Amino acid sequence: MKHAGSCHCGRIAFELEGEVDKAMDCNCSMCRRRGALLAFYPREALRLSTPEADMATYTFNKHALQHRFCPACGIAPFSEGVDPRTGAKTVAVNVRCLPDVDLDALSITKVDGASF
Ligand SMILES: [Zn+2]
Repeated sequence: MKHAGSCHCGRIAFELEGEVDKAMDCNCSMCRRRGALLAFYPREALRLSTPEADMATYTFNKHALQHRFCPACGIAPFSEGVDPRTGAKTVAVNVRCLPDVDLDALSITKVDGASF
């Protein structure tokens, strides 16, 4: 299943290959402010269709994750990182940036990121 995703203005656009049926609602210092619903995929499941250089990047805490966001509209469609157990590149997609996904149909798991 392919899902088109983007920031609000379209400067960041991508296609995600995978099922979107569940997401995480995290209460860490960043997620609680951003309001994202996140779902994790292998990095190669996301194909960026706009230039990498058009994205801005934010990191905090251990700087393990690259939180990508649009410098024009401010929306943060996904974050990139590495699975500490396997070393595999992963991406956490903000499923709110996938317009064809019915957010009310998702199974939402609350994650206590504030305690990590
Ligand atoms: Zn934008």
